[in-house]
Amino acid sequence: MADPRDVLIIGSGPAGHTAALYTARANLHPLVLEGEPSSTSDQPGGQLMLTTDVENFPGFVDGVQGPELMTIFKEQAARFGAEYVTVKANKVDFSLGPFAVWADDEEYRARAVIIATGARSLMLGLESERRLLGYGLSTCATCDGFFHRGEQIAVVGGGDSALEEAIFLTRFADKVTIVHRRNELRASKIMQDRAFANDKIEFRWNAIVDEVVGDGKVSGLRLRDTQSDELSELPVTGVFVAIGHAPNTDVFRGQIDMDENGYIDTHDGTRTNVEGVFAAGDVQDHVYRQAITAAGSGCMAAIDAERWLEHEPRTETNW
Ligand SMILES: Cc1cc2nc3c(=O)[nH]c(=O)nc-3n(C[C@H](O)[C@H](O)[C@H](O)COP(=O)(O)OP(=O)(O)OC[C@H]3O[C@@H](n4cnc5c(N)ncnc54)[C@H](O)[C@@H]3O)c2cc1C
Repeated sequence: MADPRDVLIIGSGPAGHTAALYTARANLHPLVLEGEPSSTSDQPGGQLMLTTDVENFPGFVDGVQGPELMTIFKEQAARFGAEYVTVKANKVDFSLGPFAVWADDEEYRARAVIIATGARSLMLGLESERRLLGYGLSTCATCDGFFHRGEQIAVVGGGDSALEEAIFLTRFADKVTIVHRRNELRASKIMQDRAFANDKIEFRWNAIVDEVVGDGKVSGLRLRDTQSDELSELPVTGVFVAIGHAPNTDVFRGQIDMDENGYIDTHDGTRTNVEGVFAAGDVQDHVYRQAITAAGSGCMAAIDAERWLEHEPRTETNW
């Protein structure tokens, strides 16, 4: 077990890399546990590794590919000395400083910890969905609605966020079909009223997605009627899966305060209920969920950690 670090950062999406950049430039020698390779968003680089064009990250006039943007983030932080280990934290102990984090049987200790483990969109679990993600299939209307001007598209889901996405998407698309597996919506009455009153929105009730159709790009949905089992095709050039999000916080359960959906509670910027532990990005934000807001809160967490370390005396227990 090595000497404790000043700062350990868990996660390497926009929030984690930005926290690494700022803490490295503050001479705090951060170590980033960047996660492990996987086919989901829970991988080094985070959610943007799953997408193609990112057109709303400031600084890129012509847009940038998601994975390329995350490579640039990492290289910039590494240039100032941030170190990275390709492991996933599987246990933490925040009861006493220096805090302990374990990954692959290795114990890492640090005086301050920044949690930036992000969140993931819940998916349908189809191979075709995975293949076409970023090629007409998305989980983020704010991010990708603009690409679908004048098109016919579909939103899968029946809760508030599905309806919110569908209504937002009518700014761009000619028609938005909401595909829902039941014959009534889970969404609040007010959202239902808005959706029913929108003449660009249609509904396909009692339908589940059997396959996302498309060769290199979405061209439709194959739907299965939950009552008759009949298959039908819905020709669309965009599909938004809006069946929910889940924060990557299982490893922190019992160690830190979270809301009922598992998002980490923060106050006064990025502070958590444990002094010296900070949280940034989608892991504590279920409202904005954007790369720029995650990066912004990564910067806040770095500054909060730096100021906390400045005033926290190094004692027997935390050093
Ligand atoms: C398909 C798609 C397209 C999108 N397009 C856009 C867009 O165009 N513009 C935009 O602004 N936003 C977009 N977003 C949203 C954006 O990607 C997120 O808001 C942003 O990535 C959140 O950043 P984050 O750093 O909080 O977390 P994430 O990007 O989720 O990163 C989390 C990191 O934590 C790591 N991690 C998780 N668990 C552990 C663990 N136990 N130990 C160690 N590491 C761990 C992961 O490996 C990952 O590195 C899109 C999202 C998706 C899914």
